[in-house]
Amino acid sequence: MSNKQASFYQSVDRNFEKAAAFTKHPKGLLEQIKVCNAVYQMNFPVKIGSTYQVIEAYRVQHSHHRLPTKGGIRFSHLVNSEEVKALATLMTYKCALVDVPFGGAKGGVRISPREYTPEQLEKITRRYTVELVRKNFIGPGVDVPAPDYGTGAREMAWILDTYQQLRNGELDSAACVTGKPVAQNGINGRTEATGRGVFYGLREFFNYPEDCKKVGMKPGIEGKTMVIQGLGNVGYYTGAISIEEGGVKVIGVSELEGTIYSEEGIDIVKLGKYRKETGSILNFPGTKTLANRDDWVSMECDILVPAALESQINKSNAKKVKAKIIAEAANGPVTADAELILLAKGIVIIPDMYLNAGGVTVSYFEWLKNLSHVRYGRIEKRFDQNSYVNIVSAVEKLTGKSIGMKEKNFLTRGADEVDLVRSGLEETMVEAYRQIRETYKRKKNVTDLRTAAFITAINKVASDYLALGVFP
Ligand code: NAD
Repeated sequence: MSNKQASFYQSVDRNFEKAAAFTKHPKGLLEQIKVCNAVYQMNFPVKIGSTYQVIEAYRVQHSHHRLPTKGGIRFSHLVNSEEVKALATLMTYKCALVDVPFGGAKGGVRISPREYTPEQLEKITRRYTVELVRKNFIGPGVDVPAPDYGTGAREMAWILDTYQQLRNGELDSAACVTGKPVAQNGINGRTEATGRGVFYGLREFFNYPEDCKKVGMKPGIEGKTMVIQGLGNVGYYTGAISIEEGGVKVIGVSELEGTIYSEEGIDIVKLGKYRKETGSILNFPGTKTLANRDDWVSMECDILVPAALESQINKSNAKKVKAKIIAEAANGPVTADAELILLAKGIVIIPDMYLNAGGVTVSYFEWLKNLSHVRYGRIEKRFDQNSYVNIVSAVEKLTGKSIGMKEKNFLTRGADEVDLVRSGLEETMVEAYRQIRETYKRKKNVTDLRTAAFITAINKVASDYLALGVFP
């Protein structure tokens, strides 16, 4: 192994090649699946204060085998062409794996959002959207962005508004972007979807005694310890939901300002509020601070959750990992070189393309909602509720006993939008894990979940291309 670190894009490529070797698809088809179909780099001027700044930005559509393409938009000073290509590529496999019928895409704007006021960010976001519209790189049937690192519902609302100004009267225009505020054609449950999906994925892993045995652990997620890097959208909801619904104990949290820990467990919801008020996680009551921020990697725990950026676990620090499981909430947090070291140590990596697919899954539900112009549950909720009331009344009549009010309300409840979104997300994560396991068990020499996930995804994309008749 040389001293040079594999880049994010190289790591994705290496993972692809490793998995492709287990398939029997023709070389040309594999090449078509691998490459990025369209790369758009733009530079546009935006007036910030009294000067003009030239902003570098990207939109990459990795695969047109299904349309629209789909993927988030990242605001970070680290954005570059290779990074956006790697992220777009991962989106194709992610969508295929969880049966979301989109090609992969990703966008990036090379800015550090913290250095701009909300008004300046709005200007940049709107100008970026204009560039996308001009080149036909956005639209409900073309390419549908969503939030990613450094962006959220607010930016998606600006994108929607700009798009609708330019495409006045387009019936399905609300479906041009997902992750919007609920009041702006968004969907209940999208904000926390990625973190919730991470939780469902982890819970599924712990539901299989055979899988737990590999890392010497007892089945069941309850009581497992977790360390999280990055308390942003994905890290926050992964922690909060894992604690509340899984009984997990979060014993360490790392952010830009430092890493805190507590053997007693850290209340993530309270920590989130504390960080909003003080601007930092440091000195959160009941916690201590590590001398070196980056030592979160070597903390003793069951589950290590990198939820910040790519390449955080690399050749330089992989040896130090003491966790039994790495849950890839971020995209590409483990480099291909680090993965070799971790697998040799017997550590299980639950791969990004599966584990953080909750965001795109619920984005898909939002897109469907926008196209159908109706909120989930609106049509059937009352009907279901009335039917359940009739059933409960019949049971009461037949037994001569009456059910208490609290139980009755619980039993007769019809599903709201958020209930249906969660149910769809849970089903997606459970089913995708089952598919990865099936590949893992079927392919003799496959020894890790990432390769199994890649093979599953490549086969699905390949079968789409073959059905198109492009590769006879
Ligand atoms: P975010 O901007 O909301 O949060 C990221 C957090 O990581 C920030 O709070 C930031 O301060 C912190 N961070 C950055 N560098 C760090 C470091 N060196 N040490 C500790 N903390 C650090 O971003 P997000 O949306 O939560 O995305 C995080 C990751 O998850 C990215 O890799 C993204 O591509 C991936 N992802 C996001 C979504 C989504 O729906 N938002 C979906 C799938 C995957």
